[in-house]
Amino acid sequence: MINIPKGTKDVLPQDAYKWHYIEDAARKTAELFNMKEIRTPVFEHTELFLRGVGDTTDIVNKEMYTFKDKGDRSITLKPEGTAGAARSFIENGMAAGLLPVKMYYITPAFRYERPQAGRLREFHQFGIEMYGSASPDADAEVIFAASSFLSRLGIKGVKLNINSIGCKTCRASYNAALREYLRPHLGEMCSTCRERFDKNPLRILDCKEEGCKKITRGAPRITDYLCNECSAHFKKVQQLLTAGGLEFNIDPDIVRGLDYYTKTVFEFVSDSIGAQGTVCGGGRYDGLIEELGGNPTPAVGFAAGIERLILLMENTGVPFPEERGVQVYIAGMDDESRMQAFKIVCALRAAGISAECDHMGKSVKAQFKYADKIGAQYVIALGGNELASGVCNAKRMADGATTPVMISDICGFFKGLE
Ligand code: ATP
Ligand code: MG
Repeated sequence: MINIPKGTKDVLPQDAYKWHYIEDAARKTAELFNMKEIRTPVFEHTELFLRGVGDTTDIVNKEMYTFKDKGDRSITLKPEGTAGAARSFIENGMAAGLLPVKMYYITPAFRYERPQAGRLREFHQFGIEMYGSASPDADAEVIFAASSFLSRLGIKGVKLNINSIGCKTCRASYNAALREYLRPHLGEMCSTCRERFDKNPLRILDCKEEGCKKITRGAPRITDYLCNECSAHFKKVQQLLTAGGLEFNIDPDIVRGLDYYTKTVFEFVSDSIGAQGTVCGGGRYDGLIEELGGNPTPAVGFAAGIERLILLMENTGVPFPEERGVQVYIAGMDDESRMQAFKIVCALRAAGISAECDHMGKSVKAQFKYADKIGAQYVIALGGNELASGVCNAKRMADGATTPVMISDICGFFKGLE
C-alpha cells in the first residue's frame, strides 16, 4: 500500500463540509470588505521567495520545497500566499489601476516542518492583501477583516496581540541595542540564532528554543525605539481598533516569521490548541513590492491557517453547520420501477433538486435504510402499484408524514417546497 506523505492530510468526503463552511465564511468576509480573489500558481521561481519572504527566515532557511524542473529552473512550492500575490500585483501593473488594491486568496502552502498538531507540511491559508495605502486605517481594516472572519465562524476567546517593529530607520537603532544586549549570551544561543545575530537579530525574538526564549525575555523592546512616524502610526492603529470596539494586547515579542514586515504586526492567538496557537498572523510590509522590483507601494495583510481553525473549532465545541443531505431518494422495487426511478432522478437534478437512487441492486428495505443514512429529506418508493395508478407517496423522513404526489408531478412537488 502507498501511504500519504508525512505532514499531509486528506480531507475525507465526510469532513469536507467543515472546509466548505470555513471557505464560505472566508469568501463572505472578503466580500463584506470589498475584496476580490486572486489565484496564483502553486509553484513560483525560487528567487521570488528568497527575496519576498527573506533569507533570514525559517521558511527560506529550512522549510522550502525547492527542486529543479526538467528545464533546470529552480522552482519552489509556495510556502505562503503573499509573495505570489505581490508578484502578480507588479507583473499585471495593478499599481496603475484603482488603489487600494484589495485581494484575498485561499491557497495550499508547503513548508518542510516537523509535523505535529497544527503544524503540517501541506496546509491551507485564507489571506488578504491590501496594496497602496500607507495609512493606519488600512492596518486597522485588515485587523477588523480578520476579526470579522473569526466572529463569522463563531470562534470566541481568541486574543489579538499587536506590536510595531518599526521601519528601516528605527529598526537600525533597535538592532544595535538588541545586539548589545544579546552579545554576552551568544554562546548560550542556538546555532540558528547565532547566525541571525549579524544578519537580522530581530528574528531571534521569534525563536522557539527554550534557551533562546529565556535570554530574550529581558531584551530591550522595539516599541521603546520607534521613530516619531512609526510611533504615531502605531498609536493611530490602536485608536482605530479601540474606536471599532476591538480589544487587544501589545506584545513586544511579536516579530512575525517573515522578513518583509514593517510597522504593525499582529496575531490572533488561542490557548485551546496547544503550542501552535496562532490561528492568524499579519501586518504591514511596506518594503515588499519594491524589494520584488515594483515601484515602492505600501502593503498590509494577514494569513489564517485553515487547519488550525478547524482544530480550534473542534477543540472548543464551535459547531460546523452540516450540509443538507440529498433532498429526495427514489426507491425502485423491480426493473421497471427502477428504470422510472432513474428517469425521475435525472429530471429532478435537471430541475435543480438533489436526488439519488439505488446503484447497488439493494432491496427496497435496504434502499430506505440507505436513504436514511445519507440524510435524504424525502423518500419515494415506486413499484407496480404506483406505476399503474400514477400516484406515489413522498415520505418526509423527519417525521414520517406522507403526501400523495402524481408521478408526473414529482419535480413540481419538490419545486413547490423550496
Ligand atoms: P508559526 O510561528 O506557528 O510557525 P508562522 O509565523 O510561520 O507560524 P505565518 O507564516 O504567519 O506563520 O502563517 C500564517 C498562519 O498560517 C499561521 O498563523 C498558522 O495559522 C498557519 N500556519 C503556518 N505554518 C503552518 C503549518 N506548518 N501548518 C499549519 N498551519 C500553519
Ligand atoms: Mg513557522
